[in-house]
Amino acid sequence: MLGLMQDQPLLITTIMNYAALYHREGEVVTKAVEGGLHRTTYGEVSRRSAKLAHALTKLGINQGDCVSTMAWNSYRHLELYLAVPCKGSLLNTINPRLFPDQILYILAHSEAKILFLDLTFVPLLEKLADKITGVEKFVIMTDRAHMPETTLDNILCYEELIAPEEDQYDWPDLDENTAAIICYTSGTTGEPKGALYSHRSTVLHCFSTCSKDSLGISNRDTILPIVPMFHVNAWGTPFAAIMTGCKLVLPGADMTGENFFNLLKNEECTISLGVPTIWLALLQYANSLDGNDFTDLAIESFVIGGSAAAPSLIEDLEKTFDATVLHAWGMTETSPLGSVNRPMAKHASLSEAEKMALKIKQGRPPFGIEMKIVDDDGIEMARDGVAFGRLMVRGPWVIKAYFKQPELNILDDDGYFDTGDVSTLDTDGYMTIVDRSKDVIKSGGEWISSIDLENVALGQPQVAEAAVIGIAHPKWQERPLLIILPIPGTSPTKADILAYLDGKIAKWWTPDDVLFIDEMPHTATGKIQKRDLREIYKDYKFTD
Ligand code: AMP
Repeated sequence: MLGLMQDQPLLITTIMNYAALYHREGEVVTKAVEGGLHRTTYGEVSRRSAKLAHALTKLGINQGDCVSTMAWNSYRHLELYLAVPCKGSLLNTINPRLFPDQILYILAHSEAKILFLDLTFVPLLEKLADKITGVEKFVIMTDRAHMPETTLDNILCYEELIAPEEDQYDWPDLDENTAAIICYTSGTTGEPKGALYSHRSTVLHCFSTCSKDSLGISNRDTILPIVPMFHVNAWGTPFAAIMTGCKLVLPGADMTGENFFNLLKNEECTISLGVPTIWLALLQYANSLDGNDFTDLAIESFVIGGSAAAPSLIEDLEKTFDATVLHAWGMTETSPLGSVNRPMAKHASLSEAEKMALKIKQGRPPFGIEMKIVDDDGIEMARDGVAFGRLMVRGPWVIKAYFKQPELNILDDDGYFDTGDVSTLDTDGYMTIVDRSKDVIKSGGEWISSIDLENVALGQPQVAEAAVIGIAHPKWQERPLLIILPIPGTSPTKADILAYLDGKIAKWWTPDDVLFIDEMPHTATGKIQKRDLREIYKDYKFTD
């Protein structure tokens, strides 16, 4: 027997229409690419999204057609987030930090018909233009006064494009499983792969992120997503902001600690999200200011994800801003939020040291996400916080197949997706990432976690960034090599670093060597690029 409740589809359109009705005065602030702060409201964003939808229809964008963006976090990008999926078309947000060949691959693979781009990316596109085949129009996301001189053909100006259009649109009644947004993985091996989110998966992910045990976003917040809208939908925060009507602050192209700090302070942000390198930039800027007591700022939570949050970073952020750090884990294939670290009621009486030990875990899966760890034969392992194995996840916002790659079977027999991460799960369900399966160091039949070693090394006061890679070893198979980017103006030695590690790690984890570099390579999403480090040190040999 079926229930008799209404079968309303879960659509991004319902989030937009809800905001247009109930949050029309909710504020959206952007550090504009053209300079200065731009202020608008959800009411205005939804009207302009309707205008954009009409303009797209006139440009021949039909249901199922792909529109790509290469853009920073801004109100215009937000309009594209709404107009494109709500008219039944497919939004593809491209990470401009990918290699040119990967960008070309994504444009071709997604069959993008139009590319919307910020002024910043015009030179990049000019260089690629000869090799782009399917894109019929390039829309530059600015007004007439700021249109650049360019060698690109078929260009349009965003503001001119939408200006003449009606500000109401008859949004189609879509099936909730209609494809909405496609994000490509950064493709550290092979070509990028497409994760194709549906309206339904996006709305369910959005409900989940707003819940109190997850990011807990509410109407009373002011949210500053520094994580880019070109990387996994800025962790879903644009939709969470629109759904709750909270004030949304978008940092634009200015990825400096100074901009983050000024927005945090002047716009009175309560939640901000980003990868660890963002917070290092914020802290460096804050520490450079005179009389640096920032404990009065409105900021309540910093959400750290994308890479492991080291205890030293958590402590620095919490102390400097009198705020809480929420460690979160996810991936492009999980929309992305798969776990968030919040303490449980029973943790209230823990000591500070115990709270920190809990905080560095990647957190518990929210309702909707199921996790297990398995060994190399797919056999489930103990949830005892000690055993570690391949992390497998399933849930309504987890991928079931890559876009146009049905031949790749990426799920196990029970429908779990293999994340490629190695982790533990404790009895309460807190998950700890031990490593990426390809980064873990296999020494004498045991595993050494590169993340754990890096986390400890980062506590040394002269260390800005630390990376550990495995180097082939005749006796032990692999041994750890620690590579350090020192804090500017300091010159730590190998002996300093090893003395610091002594007693904080198991003796046999001690790196066989410590090297110092001037610049740490990063991926397109701000993580340390271990593939490059492996390439640089491929001929490296330990001396003893
Ligand atoms: P991406 O698809 O680019 O978002 O990358 C996802 C990968 O980033 C995950 O599979 C993890 O390896 C890594 N990752 C994300 N969040 C964390 C975290 N909090 N700690 C450690 N690694 C993380």
